[in-house]
Amino acid sequence: MEIGKVIDFQSLTEKVGRFNLSNKTCLIPEMNRIGTHLLAAVFRGFGINAKIMDTYKGLDLGRKYTSGKECYPCQVTMGDILYYMQEEAKRLGDNFDPEDYIYFMPEADGPCRFGMYNKYQRIVLDSFPDLSRLKIGSLSSEDGYSLAGIIEDGRVRDLRKASYFSVVIGDVLDRLLWRIRPYEKEPGLTDDFIESSMHLMEETLERLGPAKNFNKILDKLEEIIEEGKRIIDPRVLPKPLIGIVGEIYLRTHVHANQDVIRVLEGYGAEVVNASIAEWVNYTSYDCLRSAKAGFGFALRQFRLGPMKKYLKDIISFGGDLFYQEFRQKKVYRRVSPLIDLAEDHSVGHLEEILMEEDLLDFDVGTEACLSIPGIMEYAREGYNGVVNVYPFTCMPSTITSAVVGPLMNELGVPYLDTPYDSSSQPGREAAIRTFMYQANQHFKRNGRKGGTEKS
Ligand code: SF4
Repeated sequence: MEIGKVIDFQSLTEKVGRFNLSNKTCLIPEMNRIGTHLLAAVFRGFGINAKIMDTYKGLDLGRKYTSGKECYPCQVTMGDILYYMQEEAKRLGDNFDPEDYIYFMPEADGPCRFGMYNKYQRIVLDSFPDLSRLKIGSLSSEDGYSLAGIIEDGRVRDLRKASYFSVVIGDVLDRLLWRIRPYEKEPGLTDDFIESSMHLMEETLERLGPAKNFNKILDKLEEIIEEGKRIIDPRVLPKPLIGIVGEIYLRTHVHANQDVIRVLEGYGAEVVNASIAEWVNYTSYDCLRSAKAGFGFALRQFRLGPMKKYLKDIISFGGDLFYQEFRQKKVYRRVSPLIDLAEDHSVGHLEEILMEEDLLDFDVGTEACLSIPGIMEYAREGYNGVVNVYPFTCMPSTITSAVVGPLMNELGVPYLDTPYDSSSQPGREAAIRTFMYQANQHFKRNGRKGGTEKS
């Protein structure tokens, strides 16, 4: 195959976009395992035939059809879709029709390459005679990942609410895993328990999500947490607490990050990773921010048409953000009396931190806006170390590293950059071991978040 021999630019607009999913199989790439499975369950509840593709099995294909200049998540997801299609073609033989599927690949506007993944992948798919008929369903951060058009209009808002709820539940299950596993009574108990809890939650969300029966779903979550607590061995002393920030795909995809959380746990850490809901809230916040700026500009010029449009956007994005933060708080309010799990800060609060310290402007955009204040909060709250997990050459994470590295030095909080691509870096384990030694020293000197006693 010769990639891009003839680029069909029409294909980039006609076969990438928001498509109605009825009578199609919606293929979702697995990023964080729990969150994507729960999201697919909600989609199924709304009558969409959603499937999570096996991930990482097609990495060789991903490598073959990329040049090496793309970000690593683009390579992994490229491999996932090519592998899935290859296996489907084998399984279905003559009945295989790529038009039966929509490949789900969100994008983000802004200064980095994420907005280009689906265009690049379109070009690769078009270079296969059959796969040129496989459409890419793309949601964009530009409109706060609106789901308009993918199902009938009357149910779009409910789908969005239930989807967001599933993202928060996924975050809680992830945090439960990281909270319990370092203290488990027997190795492997937590992984098995969380896997079965995820399936239980999938079934619950698929059944109760469409009716937005959130309280009943939370009842089930409470039962899971109570059961999970029994896995904790009370004799195991508290461990150094490590916070993770970074690029969303790499920090949540355990194959791509070579299971960095488990490696840290192996050296004696308890870990908290930044959440997925934080990114969703950020996109709504950023859209609201842009709409407010646009309105101010139009007002100064007294242009009524744009003023009306921006006002509509302010109401719409403001409503989304309010709803999301309200729903997220409600979930954590049910969870926190049962177990001490880390909660997210509001995006507005994170912007305040950036402004207070004059570290970066939200106008720059990207995940650096979350990672930099996220690290500052970890440091202020008494975490014993912070790890920045990202794809090799990732632009926002490199900015983050440049800004916070010297600050962490000043604050005396251990900090580690861990860029990943598909190779294994020989010094990585030694770096993590050294970092954990420093984190342990910090823990012995200062104790840890929540006033837990020093070891
Ligand atoms: S966030 Fe980083 S890895 Fe993702 S597209 Fe942007 S530069 Fe690439």
